[in-house]
Amino acid sequence: MNQPLDLTAMMYHYVRDLGDEAEAGSRISGMTVHAFEAQLDEISKEHTFVDWPAVRSALEEDKPLPSSACLLTFDDGVRDHYINAFMILRERNLSGLFFVLDHRVNDGLVLGHKIHYLLAGLGVDELRVTILERLDSAQRERFMSAEKKYQLKYPGGSLDDRINLLKAVLQRDSSIEVDPLLSDLFEMHIGSEIEIARSYYLNPEQMKEMTSAGMHFGGHSHSHPWFDWIDTEQRDDEIRCSADYLRQIERGPWAFAYPYGSLSDDSPYLLRKHGFVAAFTTQAQLRHSDPYYIGRLDGEEVAQNGQAYA
Ligand SMILES: [Zn+2]
Repeated sequence: MNQPLDLTAMMYHYVRDLGDEAEAGSRISGMTVHAFEAQLDEISKEHTFVDWPAVRSALEEDKPLPSSACLLTFDDGVRDHYINAFMILRERNLSGLFFVLDHRVNDGLVLGHKIHYLLAGLGVDELRVTILERLDSAQRERFMSAEKKYQLKYPGGSLDDRINLLKAVLQRDSSIEVDPLLSDLFEMHIGSEIEIARSYYLNPEQMKEMTSAGMHFGGHSHSHPWFDWIDTEQRDDEIRCSADYLRQIERGPWAFAYPYGSLSDDSPYLLRKHGFVAAFTTQAQLRHSDPYYIGRLDGEEVAQNGQAYA
């Protein structure tokens, strides 16, 4: 890449309506199908949609993109992307780039997704108390001091702050001890984790159908950790697993999306080593000077704030 790349990359997570097959009674909300379609209408007025191979050629061969190019990306490989997003993209003859986790048929949910279910099921305050009750004193100590640390970032007592604060503690400092604990709570309050995980994530048949209709896949790690929280060896392992998984569904070289948008200085080197030539962040940015730090706009946020795309 010799010149900065101008690209509006949109990022989506859950695309679902309350009560539909993707939401499936979980009470986990997302961008509504209507809002997603309205946003595509809006984007198409000003932009030309491009697919991953076009972006890859722009990065690798300096092959120019059309002006006002827009790439649609989807994180986490959840069923919403087959049930809702893919059907809409196919109808419109558009392509998406789907960042999937290395998930196998007997795996449960990654920690971040268990937290989504339990937050929706128990509420943030009850979940916090329930977890604290089950930790031993050393673990509780770690939990509380992490909470104190992240309170600087999420100081308000608003619901959003309380949720983000709890998520930060659970996904980072307390992640190792709460992971099995949250699986127990999941079985008690939600249902069979493995069974739910099986339909929560895209399955090989769905991905095959998506591929044959022009969709593309990229990597998103194995366990969805914060890359700035784990060490180099673990990052290397997460990226290698992602490459091994992708090899079955998409021809490389691939793109990657950092879990939680979390960065580390060695990631570009590790990604290149395992066959990834680009990586997407969660930083809102439209011009990109490094292929391993391509910024994206959060579609749901844009829809809520009525922000412009360009
Ligand atoms: Zn993710």
